[in-house]
Amino acid sequence: MRRYKAVVGILLAAIATFLVSCGGGPEAVAPTYTPEKIAQLTNYVSRLESSRNRFPELLNYIEKDNWINVDNFTHGPLGQLRSELSRLSSQLLPDDQPKAKALSEEILGHLQNLDEASEARNYGEALTQYREFVGDFEALLSIVPEGARQEAIDQAAEEPDVFEMTTTIPEEPAIRAEEEDMVRTPVLLDGDTEDTIEALGGDAENIGDDA
Ligand code: ZN
Repeated sequence: MRRYKAVVGILLAAIATFLVSCGGGPEAVAPTYTPEKIAQLTNYVSRLESSRNRFPELLNYIEKDNWINVDNFTHGPLGQLRSELSRLSSQLLPDDQPKAKALSEEILGHLQNLDEASEARNYGEALTQYREFVGDFEALLSIVPEGARQEAIDQAAEEPDVFEMTTTIPEEPAIRAEEEDMVRTPVLLDGDTEDTIEALGGDAENIGDDA
């Protein structure tokens, strides 16, 4: 009997130890950015930093009313932005995720509006949406832990960008072009039907395959 009690005592102690070590409760260590998480984040952030490095190029196209290149840019270099943003958000700590997701939606919304302004050749609206887009992009990157961000900036500066513009258009003088001038603007096309029709001033809305 004595021996039985001793065994039960040891068992209870073992169970108690087990419960304490698993329970955690409010004293549990809050999740932090481990070195593995930072490395993972750096991968995603460096893609966003490479895109960010090219924003002045996008602004330049807007300022020159080069709407075809604006469109090529938002669908080329920025074409993967939605998935890149959602991968970044999912790697942030739970506390940072709601803000990151909200800013991601803002960013994509402004990009969509920029696209529409570009289709309508609306310079003022395009510029407004570009600025909002950049502002929200900066706000999102400011959530990223400093270590990952700095490493990503360094990586983005070293690696050549994987996205190249597929269409090169001779630059026009920095004056607002008339609609008719847009039609006559010589363009070097890559054979994409939708671009061709739009370059010729037509509406490619209904023939697009990936609009
Ligand atoms: Zn916004």
